[in-house]
Amino acid sequence: MQRRKFITAGLLAGSAVLATACGKKEEKKPEAPAVQTKKSYEWRMVTTWPKNFPGLGTGANKLAQYITDASEGRLKVTVYGGGEVVPPLESFDAVSKGTAEMGHGAAYYWKGKSPATQFFAAVPFGLNAQETNAWIYSGGGQKLWDDLYAQFNLKPFLAGNTGVQMGGWFNREINSLDDMNGLKIRMPGLGGDVLTAIGAVANTLPGGEIFTSLQSGAIDATEWVGPYNDLAFGFYKVAKFYYYPGWHEPGTALEAFVNKQAYDALPADLQQIVTVACQAANNDMLAEFTAKNGDALATLVNEHNVQLKRFPDEVLKKLSTVSEEVVSDVASGDADAKKVYENFSAFRSKVSKWTTLSEVGFSEARDL
Ligand code: CA
Repeated sequence: MQRRKFITAGLLAGSAVLATACGKKEEKKPEAPAVQTKKSYEWRMVTTWPKNFPGLGTGANKLAQYITDASEGRLKVTVYGGGEVVPPLESFDAVSKGTAEMGHGAAYYWKGKSPATQFFAAVPFGLNAQETNAWIYSGGGQKLWDDLYAQFNLKPFLAGNTGVQMGGWFNREINSLDDMNGLKIRMPGLGGDVLTAIGAVANTLPGGEIFTSLQSGAIDATEWVGPYNDLAFGFYKVAKFYYYPGWHEPGTALEAFVNKQAYDALPADLQQIVTVACQAANNDMLAEFTAKNGDALATLVNEHNVQLKRFPDEVLKKLSTVSEEVVSDVASGDADAKKVYENFSAFRSKVSKWTTLSEVGFSEARDL
């Protein structure tokens, strides 16, 4: 019965189209099943990651799958690894211009477009993952981000988080501020600027060159992500000490960005699917990093005898003070960055008191 109705409706729809095309007046609108009349879309998602890179690349894959499945294929998203359609760091421009409809990356890669983008990825001594979600979803951050990216014809979403990263792999111990002097370390972004300001020699080696540089002594130390990704790179084979905490990337947010015309062209239900799929992907990635970091940390310590070290308070205090200066400098030279910085800083000062009382207070009690 259902099938007969379907076929009849289809035939009616077909004849109505023909009738209209022949110039005859259409008397009654046929009742085709709703799904038959809805338009389908195909999007390309360019990414800043190697295809299927654990955590980050696989997170982008999952996001595309969620959108495609939840829309029953009405919005089909195909993922491309960095370099497949455009080089990784041209993803922002490619989506802005409409070469691709969607991208997945990290906002600090676009600081050359606007220094304000960095506040939406990672800030030294900034927000952790939970606080970042709070700022973007419930603290006014999304509006600031939308306004900033609209200038580039983009609509941004949170789409992943690594959680607090590790301070890095060192082949010598850091016992005082003096030990940071002249230290050759791989650390990109604002963290690298902070280290340079305290006398270290920071560089931004790409991932593929870190291991051999550490092995040859070209660098004394490196940061990467955390136990899950760092174990895979094998840094424990060439550096003895694994330092925490990752003061420079306390909860690095990954993003999805969509070409504004492509987004605005979607019907409301597909826009909602994109929005909610990004939220799900954001949640999933943090869960994956958290679970796998725990496993990998145990492997590093128990099987590879890695020595975990906490940076001395003296070093952390100095890094914190200098970070405040470096971050406020970012804001001082640019109107957009200033606006975002002021909102971000006000949010951080309120939420950090709550985090210390709640999350940190509980964690300390649990470890007693
Ligand atoms: Ca990092």
